[in-house]
Amino acid sequence: MALPDTTEFYINGSFTKSIDGSEMPVMNPSYDTQCATVMLGGQKDGEAAVAAAKAAFNSWSQSSKEERIALVERILAIYNDHADEMAVAISTEMGAPIDYATNAQVTAGSWHIENFLMAVKDLAFDHPLGDHAPEDRIVYEPVGVVGLITPWNWPMNQVTLKVIPALLAGCTMVLKPSEIAPLSSQIFAKIMHEAGTPAGVFNMVHGDGTGIGTLLSGHEDIDMISFTGSTRAGQAISANAAKTLKRVHLELGGKGANIIFDDADEKAVKRGAIHCFNNTGQSCNAPTRMLVSRNRYDEAVATAKAVAEMMQPDKSDKSGRHIGPVVSDVQYDKIQSLIETGISEGAELVAGGTGKPDGLDDGYFVRPTVFANVTNDMTIAREEIFGPVLSIMPFDSEEEAIAIANDTPYGLTNYIQSQNPETCRRVARQLRSGMVELNGKGRGRMSPFGGMKASGNGREGGKWGIEDFMEIKAISGWKA
Ligand code: NAD
Repeated sequence: MALPDTTEFYINGSFTKSIDGSEMPVMNPSYDTQCATVMLGGQKDGEAAVAAAKAAFNSWSQSSKEERIALVERILAIYNDHADEMAVAISTEMGAPIDYATNAQVTAGSWHIENFLMAVKDLAFDHPLGDHAPEDRIVYEPVGVVGLITPWNWPMNQVTLKVIPALLAGCTMVLKPSEIAPLSSQIFAKIMHEAGTPAGVFNMVHGDGTGIGTLLSGHEDIDMISFTGSTRAGQAISANAAKTLKRVHLELGGKGANIIFDDADEKAVKRGAIHCFNNTGQSCNAPTRMLVSRNRYDEAVATAKAVAEMMQPDKSDKSGRHIGPVVSDVQYDKIQSLIETGISEGAELVAGGTGKPDGLDDGYFVRPTVFANVTNDMTIAREEIFGPVLSIMPFDSEEEAIAIANDTPYGLTNYIQSQNPETCRRVARQLRSGMVELNGKGRGRMSPFGGMKASGNGREGGKWGIEDFMEIKAISGWKA
């Protein structure tokens, strides 16, 4: 299947060539070979995209809810038609094995589009304040022109979580996908085009953080930045955005705790370890710190070791339930260095370790790694590793488990395993995170995703995800 041409941008309703960009190779992480070329947009490319979005705002912001829903319904149908092509693009650019790309990565996008369509139907963009103030009207309006900056780890998950609610809110936009994984967004732009998105409403420019990313976060005609990625980039964006006082929505990293109590179900440890290694550990909500009650500790270490040995990596174009490589040589080196730091700081290596798995010398393959006897002050317990590395630590009381779980700069998702609903409820209320998952039960449709503390602000998904792209206007003296 031919890969899309990522030297083109999508501006003002047409695929266009760059004015002042520069080329960068796109690497296939399974083979460490170039699979495509991406054009990193320059200043003039970025300006053209912002100008197109600005020009389209007056008309799209006044479009009806029905018109926006009809467009998103067309996008969903065309997205589903392109599922196979999308799976190949994602698998090639970021290394998800083809079956996982098909069944998890691509479907994450369609799931979000469906859910936003459900959520928007019940959202009143315009309603009275209340019976006590009959002439007061509360009106929800689009925030304006938005800049959307996305990472490589769940490309369509993150693109749909931003583009679709922005469209439904009535915003116009410039998307800058990850330069490491641009292929899937190129297909997404084609989908937006085929769906008949009015010219200028959706624009896409490839580029890097220092170029197009910085242009968007500092641009006076951009009213809001919605960003998913590293804490480092989130800080840079916030600082640059402050000059124009734009709204900044951040989805950053995580260091999720998975608390295994004495009465956790039999599969809890296995489930938690698999969750940590899924997507080769490259998920912001991965449960990377497993906190285990002392009574279950030895059993948990043995089970996690067995899971690591079972989940061997392999090439992303090979069918099957293996995990893929990590995304880049930069990420590979970072993970190797953190595994070395874990060993040198005294954690007990029980599975994996540094170096590549046998027979996988080319490509950015990491050995699924388990550390036991980790303490929460170790670097591997504090930093987001973004690779298949699990840290296990014992606890002696519920209070201690909660204290360890909360002793992190992050606050995205925490996990509790206990068959006692009262324990689950009591502990869930005390965890400082945007989400808590109990006993492996995933969030339902239209549930909000997002974090506290260094994991970011704002929420994506459901009605909250749409409202985050809106301003609230209070009008008094309103006659019905
Ligand atoms: P990154 O944050 O550098 O890149 C994510 C996106 O932000 C990309 O589109 C990038 O071009 C852009 N960007 C980078 N710097 C920017 C800047 N100063 N201004 C505007 N845009 C900027 O992430 P990465 O380098 O791809 O990965 C590094 C680390 O980030 C990972 O190890 C991981 O810990 C974390 N990460 C987290 C998530 C998440 O979902 N929370 C996703 C990807 C990466």
